[in-house]
Amino acid sequence: AKQLGRGQVVVFEPAMMERSTQHARLSMELRQALERGELRVHYQPLVALDDGRLLGMEALLRWQHPERGWIPPGSFIPVAEESDLILTLGDWVLGQATRDIAQRLHSLPPGFGLHVNVSVRQLIQSDFALTLQQALRDSGLPASRLTLEITESLLLVQDAATESRLRQLRQLGVKIAIDDFGTGYSSLAYLQRLPFDCLKIDQSFVRNLSKSAQDAAIVTAVLRMAEGLGVEAVAEGVETEAEAARLRDLGCTRAQGYLYGKPQEIDAWQARP
Ligand code: C2E
Ligand code: CA
Ligand code: CA
Ligand code: CA
Repeated sequence: AKQLGRGQVVVFEPAMMERSTQHARLSMELRQALERGELRVHYQPLVALDDGRLLGMEALLRWQHPERGWIPPGSFIPVAEESDLILTLGDWVLGQATRDIAQRLHSLPPGFGLHVNVSVRQLIQSDFALTLQQALRDSGLPASRLTLEITESLLLVQDAATESRLRQLRQLGVKIAIDDFGTGYSSLAYLQRLPFDCLKIDQSFVRNLSKSAQDAAIVTAVLRMAEGLGVEAVAEGVETEAEAARLRDLGCTRAQGYLYGKPQEIDAWQARP
């Protein structure tokens, strides 16, 4: 602690200081990474649980660091979200992903949908709808092929602005998915208020599905609710055939997870039959 005049004390936490220095450095490195082309978009399939057919793909950001190798988004997105850097990254992902998919749409199954993660910070920008329209126009991807995934916990924070923004985006023809569903401090009231098309059931509920009656009860309730609300439900993080079978039994029709494929570069998917 550092003593100032008049008995004021400013607490200087060494740990905090270190953290903010690290964050500042990471932000700078990220900006450079973008300029140097070290950021990549990988894609993970979303499939129908009955026959495994491809329904769409989720775009997931990756950082190929020249020394440290692949850096997962969990270790840099939260830092980017603390500043406007997330806007730069988010715009870049949106542009890259819409182009990647639009160029290959002819060889993808009918109805194929691209899912892109969007931070609430991006969403509440006054010009986000314009940014989105521009990405769609530049890439040629029809709006109906795009779903924006928004994390549930973030949705709860900013509400009035988010609600009208989601309506505006849906009017453009894109779909809205609530990501990581079940992990936020949700009141069911927000489901009633927010316009959305898809719920992604968080992998933490899928993980123990075959062993835990509680998790099965929660997943069942979410599936019923999605059905009642007329929205799609996607189970995330499906890793085993046993989980897939259990989900099928519970009436789930869509899934995503390592069982069907890990995120890969778009051309790695193209090469497959
Ligand atoms: P998310 O949107 O919930 O994405 C799903 C995460 O689960 C991905 O991690 C994916 O690789 C991983 N995953 C998929 N299937 C399985 C599975 O079967 N088992 C396990 N254990 N994991 C599985 P990833 O790619 O590391 O992304 C982490 C998070 O970073 C994402 O979670 C998302 O919140 C965020 N993120 C990624 N790309 C973007 C982006 O472009 N923009 C924003 N705003 N956030 C992004
Ligand atoms: Ca997601
Ligand atoms: Ca998720
Ligand atoms: Ca997540």
